[in-house]
Amino acid sequence: RKLGYAIVGLGGYANIIMPRFAECRHSRLTALVSGDPAKARRIAAEYGVPERNIYDYANFDRIRDNPDVDIVYVILPVALHHEYTLRAAAAGKHVLCEKPMAMNAGEAAEMIAACDAANVKLMIGYRSWFESHNREAMRMTAAGELGPLRLVTSQHGFNIGDPNQWRLDPALSGGGSMMDIGIYSLQSARYLSGEEPVEVAAFEQTDRSDPRFRAVEDTLLFQLRFPSGAVADGVSSYSSHHGRSRAVGAAGWLDMEPATGYGGHRMRVHLEGRTREHEPPILPLNQFSGQLDHLSQCVLTGAEPIVPGEEGLRDMRIIDGMYQAARERRPVAI
Ligand code: NAD
Repeated sequence: RKLGYAIVGLGGYANIIMPRFAECRHSRLTALVSGDPAKARRIAAEYGVPERNIYDYANFDRIRDNPDVDIVYVILPVALHHEYTLRAAAAGKHVLCEKPMAMNAGEAAEMIAACDAANVKLMIGYRSWFESHNREAMRMTAAGELGPLRLVTSQHGFNIGDPNQWRLDPALSGGGSMMDIGIYSLQSARYLSGEEPVEVAAFEQTDRSDPRFRAVEDTLLFQLRFPSGAVADGVSSYSSHHGRSRAVGAAGWLDMEPATGYGGHRMRVHLEGRTREHEPPILPLNQFSGQLDHLSQCVLTGAEPIVPGEEGLRDMRIIDGMYQAARERRPVAI
């Protein structure tokens, strides 16, 4: 059976996701939620969504009565993730929520509690967990193929444009580059080490005279200490392009660049004194369709998603700690 998804928010990333239902085996696009009726009708026609399954933000709660919808996928600015996750859960629908999960750890915890209380699944849109290179890197580090892991370094960033976009308004974004793109550096550090940090240090560099960065951070450098003694060193930027993750063990390293983009991933491995291109086993589905079908299968079988709300909450706690560490100019225990 194919489970029905409602997409909430028909912006840039929703337009990356919607074509990917075509390759799904267990998921289909059945409803749209938008504040722009003309746009919703145009997209509905394009994807064969019936007009009766178009909602706006006011009548969204009526989705409760729609048997075509099993899962609500929240692809809105961050400030709205909490509200729409709670409303979807109250409507009895399972939830896929985009990253970063929420404005802060407190909101993230409430989202988990609401989905638990409604007995619906909550998954966060960490698509790299469904991407072949990242899966292979997780497998290699977990299997100890690089020897005991010592260090993860990861840099993610892009040069952001329009100063008036929601990403640069903290009331809608909850923060700057670290919330948006830097979360890939943090995710890499956590899933390549397989550990949870016990301490975080962070250092911010922002040109406040740049109209883009009046209210949110541009660059954040962070360091994490893990219980095993491994450490991570990360970069997040809204003023320069990066997309790289590297895991270094006592016996060798692996290096992915691009590491977490929409495509074009590459991976090199250094072992026994030799560096070579490494081609991972390619997963049957691309990362977007794989993510959609994973949640559908979890709903169908009762399994827990590999990136549940708790995974988002862990990141939110660490990011809250990073901001505190940068502000107070001292390391913070997690
Ligand atoms: P976007 O600005 O392109 O789209 C946001 C949509 O929300 C728009 O259609 C807008 O009309 C709608 N919206 C509803 N209420 C709004 C309000 N009060 N203010 C502003 N917009 C409002 O943004 P996007 O790039 O699609 O990002 C949406 C979410 O997806 C974010 O959480 C972002 O972090 C996430 N995202 C994830 C990935 C990924 O690879 N996983 C990539 C891009 C974005």
